[in-house]
Amino acid sequence: MNTNSVLLLILATLVLFLTSCNNRQEITQHNVARIISTLSSDDMKGRHAMSPDIKKAANFIAKEFTEIGLTPVYDDFRQTFTLYSITPARSSVTLNGQNIEEHRYFSITNTDSLSFSLSDVSLKEISETDDFRESFNSYRHDNESSIIAVSKDHIDWFNRYRSYFSRANRTMEIDQKPNDLFVISDAPINSAKVEIVNNLDTMHLENIVGKIPGKNEDEIILFSAHYDHLGIVNPVEEDSVVNGANDNASGVAGVIELARYFSNGQTPERTLYFVGFTAEETGGFGSRYFSEHIEPDRITAMINIEMIGKPAVEGENTAWITGFDLTSFGQIFRKHSPDNFKFYADPYPNQNLFYRSDNATLAEKGVPAHTISTTPIDVDQDYHQVSDEFSTINITHTTNTIRAIAQVSELLVSGEATPTRLPVKSVNK
Ligand SMILES: [Zn+2]
Repeated sequence: MNTNSVLLLILATLVLFLTSCNNRQEITQHNVARIISTLSSDDMKGRHAMSPDIKKAANFIAKEFTEIGLTPVYDDFRQTFTLYSITPARSSVTLNGQNIEEHRYFSITNTDSLSFSLSDVSLKEISETDDFRESFNSYRHDNESSIIAVSKDHIDWFNRYRSYFSRANRTMEIDQKPNDLFVISDAPINSAKVEIVNNLDTMHLENIVGKIPGKNEDEIILFSAHYDHLGIVNPVEEDSVVNGANDNASGVAGVIELARYFSNGQTPERTLYFVGFTAEETGGFGSRYFSEHIEPDRITAMINIEMIGKPAVEGENTAWITGFDLTSFGQIFRKHSPDNFKFYADPYPNQNLFYRSDNATLAEKGVPAHTISTTPIDVDQDYHQVSDEFSTINITHTTNTIRAIAQVSELLVSGEATPTRLPVKSVNK
C-alpha cells in the first residue's frame, strides 16, 4: 500500500467510526453536582413521600425531563396513584359475651370501619404446640377473614406482632383484602362481636416517567432511581433535614444524566424509559405501582441506580450490581465496562439487597432488573442520617459511574446485548 491509500484507509475508517458513533450528549460533573446539590438542599426538606415537600423534587425532575426533551409517558410526566395510611382509632371485641381488654387483641384490616360477628368469619387457632410465626403467616395470607384464637403460651410473639400492627399500615388497596383479628384466648369461642374504626389518610403520590421512543416500542431499557427520602427528623446537632444526597439524589442524577446522554435526536433501536420512583423509603410503593402497570415482557432490562455518590469498598471507579449471578446482566456490565472502571457482584449478599430495592417487583415478574450501587453501606456513617449531605459526595466518582453505566448501556440500547431473564415467581408471597 502506498502512503496515499493508507491515508485514504485511515480517513475511511475515521468516517465510518464517526458515523457509527452516536454523538451522545456529554455527561458533565457540572450537571451531576447541580442535580445532587439541588435535590439534597435543605430547601427540599428531605423529600418525604408522605409530605407536601416532595412536590418540589417531583417538579424539579419533571422540568429536567422537559428540558432534555423526553416524551412524557403520562400527563406532565406524572404517574399518579393513591396510597392509604390506616391507623387504628378505636375498637371493641366481645367474646362469649365478655368484653376483651385492648392489649389482648390486634386486628389487621384494610378499611376505615368494620363490624362482624363469629358467623361472618372463620374461626382458627394458634395452639400452644403451633409455631406462632408459621401459623400467623399462613392465616394472614389465606384470603379469608378470620378470628384467630392465640394460646397465651405465645404471649411474647403476640405482643411483638401486636405492637407492629398497631402502627400505621400503608396500602395501595383498601376494602380488598380479608380482615383478621388475633386474640389471646385459651377458652373455646362460641360467640364474637367485633367493631373496629380506623383513621384513613389518603395521599396522592407521583412517579416521574419520561421516555425516548425507539424503533422497537416493546423492548424497553428502563433506567430508574427513587427520588424520595426520609424528610425531617428530631434535630441532631441542630440539623433536622435528612438530605439524602447519596440516598438517592445521586441515583436521580444518574437517571437524568443518562436521559440527557441518550437524547441526541436520533431514534434508538430500543425504547428508553427514565423513571424517578416515589415512596421507596416508605415501603417501595412507587416502584410497585409502576411495575404493576406495565407489561413486564416489554422490559428488556431494568437498571436501577441507588446511592452512587461515594466510592465502594473496592475504591473509586467501581460499582456493584445486586443479583449479579441471577441473570447475564452482571456479566454484560463486567465484560463491557470501560477500561478505567469495574463492575462486580454485590459485596453484601447477606443483606438481601436484590429483593429490597425498587427492582424487586419487576424481577419477580421475570425482568432482568438489577440495582447498581457504589456505597460502602457497612461502614457508611451517613446512611439514613442528617449528615447525608452534598458535601460528602464524590462528584468525580459519581460522574464516572454514570458514564460507565452509559457506555455499557449502549449495547442494551442498540440491541447488541440482551440479558437473560429471571424465572417468573408464580405464587403470592
Ligand atoms: Zn435509597
